[in-house]
Amino acid sequence: MTDFDPTDDVAVRAVLLARKADLTRLIASSKDSRAAVELDQSRVGRLSRMDAIQGQAMAIETDRRRALDLTRLAAALARLDAGVYGVCVRCGEEIAAKRLNFDPALALCVDCATEG
Ligand SMILES: [Zn+2]
Repeated sequence: MTDFDPTDDVAVRAVLLARKADLTRLIASSKDSRAAVELDQSRVGRLSRMDAIQGQAMAIETDRRRALDLTRLAAALARLDAGVYGVCVRCGEEIAAKRLNFDPALALCVDCATEG
């Protein structure tokens, strides 16, 4: 992934929207594969059924994380619209560009993030 400039609204919006599109696609495709597992369940034995249940639990967890990421991305887009993107929501300091390039949806600067 190429780095973007967090002060460039157009670049930021492009990055956030691209991530959102990726996530939406991943969520849709995981729903498809889960539906396929459910259809197969009548044919599998007990052990592989346990595997399937475990796999399903992991898939649910992955979905939950992706849904959370979507929420964070939507919040980041809202901050961009409000003109406060890249500013820590807690202390008002600028968030380092390096951190935003790692995770464009970050809402906290490094100090506030490590304070927990
Ligand atoms: Zn802060």
